[in-house]
Amino acid sequence: MGTEYAKPAPSHAIAPMLSPLLHPAGTEPRATRTARQEFLPFAPPLIGEEEINEVWITTGPKTKRFESEFAAYLGAPSALALNSCTAGLHTALVTLGVGPGDEVISTPLTFASSVGVIEHVRARPVLVDVQPDTLNIDPILIEAKVTPHTKAIIPVHFAGHPVDLDPIRETARRYGLSIVEDAAHALPARYKGRLIGSSDNPVAFSFYATKNLTTGEGGMLTASPEFLERARVVSLHGMSRDAWNRYAKGGTWYYEVLLPGFKYNMTDIQAAIGLWQLRKLARFEQRRREVVAAYNRAFSHEDALETPAERREVEHAWHLYVLRLRLEVLRIDRNRFIEELTSRNIGTSVHFIPIHLHPYYRDKYAFTPESFPIAYANYRRMVSLPLNLQLSDADVADVIDAVLDVVRRYRR
Ligand SMILES: *Cc1c(COP(=O)(O)O)cnc(C)c1O
Repeated sequence: MGTEYAKPAPSHAIAPMLSPLLHPAGTEPRATRTARQEFLPFAPPLIGEEEINEVWITTGPKTKRFESEFAAYLGAPSALALNSCTAGLHTALVTLGVGPGDEVISTPLTFASSVGVIEHVRARPVLVDVQPDTLNIDPILIEAKVTPHTKAIIPVHFAGHPVDLDPIRETARRYGLSIVEDAAHALPARYKGRLIGSSDNPVAFSFYATKNLTTGEGGMLTASPEFLERARVVSLHGMSRDAWNRYAKGGTWYYEVLLPGFKYNMTDIQAAIGLWQLRKLARFEQRRREVVAAYNRAFSHEDALETPAERREVEHAWHLYVLRLRLEVLRIDRNRFIEELTSRNIGTSVHFIPIHLHPYYRDKYAFTPESFPIAYANYRRMVSLPLNLQLSDADVADVIDAVLDVVRRYRR
């Protein structure tokens, strides 16, 4: 704000190359050379007027604005726009100095990247089973897994239901651990009245195509300004100054590489989309709640179905609607249930295949399905129903009809 940013050269900057064509005899530019009036940028890309009118091409003013508007929306101390949530989690661990020999505690019921980033820094993931109602990491089980090597905890706000943070913060405080929240699903969500992302510890959001707010691919890391100042260096080649701005007038060619950093910056193309999505987020949130309310009304009295929990102290972001089947009441398993819905033209998914079942983790750490029995038992009976902003009321009614039809047909 108030800052001047490098504008890409307009497309007519190509003109000097073409001057014989553009300046027929008698219209040549004056021959007398005076000192250059305009600043000559070092390496401007050649992009048409149309693109320029929309956005600057790499990290620039739109990204800066998206960072500040996102931070303001959540009441976050500060925000760093990146090209994914995975980049945010990885950047946070590197910034914290987590590395070989260290242990990081997380949940088996998450997407691959929450745990993959622990492997990326050559630390050891230590998984802790989930609570039966929320399917979030169980704070009570964490303390038993803390060792002198434990450096951090990565809780995941599963489906958008905030993790029970207070006891996790208490454990972290007692043992000097950092908390890096995976908030890929938790936009916007509240824990005890406070928005997820408004705390000082690092919190990573995802703007992947399916998430509550999307930039196609993208992510945001919120944290204290001091932490993000270091994270920004880690996330962009380890360069000592705002590298995106060094070709601007008033920028300088000089920088220092302080560590072998990453190439994780968000582009203005993504940020331009994100700024509009952010303006629509409240409407998006309301629509998600409407769909969830319709599902809950339809399913909560079916003994074969368990609707998702929403504890009293939270506001759920409703990224996913994870329905659980009471298999003892049904004659079919979850996979067959999904096939039956597919044959009724209803697309569903499963969130998630637990980490400990995937070959890499299963083999490396000798996990069995029963290593995390609650995650495993719930995995076998969960199905995610459509919950997105393209759903019409008629679509929602179709999903409900199909689910109830399958349940009634295959009840024991
Ligand atoms: C989508 C997702 C991620 C990764 O987000 P990207 O932006 O694709 O890197 C991380 N954790 C969870 C729980 C997710 O669902």
